[in-house]
Amino acid sequence: MTRILLLGGTTEASALARRLADEGRGAVFSYAGRTDAPVSQPLPTRIGGFGGVAGLARYIVDHAITHVVDATHPFAAQMSRNAVDACAQTGTPLIALERPAWQAQAGDNWTHVGDIAGAVDALPDQPAQVFLAIGKQNLDAFATKPQHRYLLRLVDPGPVPLPQAHIVIARGPFDVTGDKALMQSHAITHIVAKNAGGTGAQAKLTAARDLHLPVILIDRPALPARRVAGSVAEVMVWLDHQATERGV
Ligand code: NAP
Repeated sequence: MTRILLLGGTTEASALARRLADEGRGAVFSYAGRTDAPVSQPLPTRIGGFGGVAGLARYIVDHAITHVVDATHPFAAQMSRNAVDACAQTGTPLIALERPAWQAQAGDNWTHVGDIAGAVDALPDQPAQVFLAIGKQNLDAFATKPQHRYLLRLVDPGPVPLPQAHIVIARGPFDVTGDKALMQSHAITHIVAKNAGGTGAQAKLTAARDLHLPVILIDRPALPARRVAGSVAEVMVWLDHQATERGV
């Protein structure tokens, strides 16, 4: 019998969970547990790390997982690497639901940087108003540029390691009108974002284009080779194909 482990934490993972539930597929949804009140899912849900590659491999065996779908955020690189290794160790078919990276359009003023440190370096030395739209992880790297006022948009309230921070508590998806108003009301001069792709967090880039604001865009971390699907529908086709091949 098919039993899918769906590694979540993205809008696309939630869409896949809905589809799996609607089709009555055996599946369990997994959250890292980063937010206080994660979006509830229409599938049995577990929360928390597995304990590295060994822990994930053990979970796969103990729970008779037949397929793993990695629908984590493109910057959740550790989880994705662990999934590749644990699936290889246990011989479990793996597919990643990966959204294409955002591409610049006419009117965009993007500076591409390789990582968080590159984003810090790319900020000016003169005081600026920065929309630091990278979530709550990696904020401490920006403490080396304390001269800037940072606008942060976070899912949960909590302390941040930046002296001049204004925190907005909100959960995506976001829209262009709202993001433009947010940037204008804080007189934003620079945006720092991860090249996450997808639709839920794209509004800030459109808003930046409309407002002629520069964006410092952090490239995705490199991941090992793995099978990739670009949509929920492609994952479903893969699952059906796997079932036919295995005779389950
Ligand atoms: P990460 O750095 O790749 O993962 C660190 C550890 O967190 C993993 O080794 C694993 O712990 C645990 N983990 C991560 N995702 C998990 C999941 N879906 N289920 C169970 N354990 C998980 O991940 P991250 O960047 O902290 O992201 C954590 C979660 O937030 C992911 O679900 C991701 O989709 C979501 N998210 C991340 C970002 C981002 O910018 N990074 C943005 C939006 C949403 P063990 O080693 O103990 O198994």
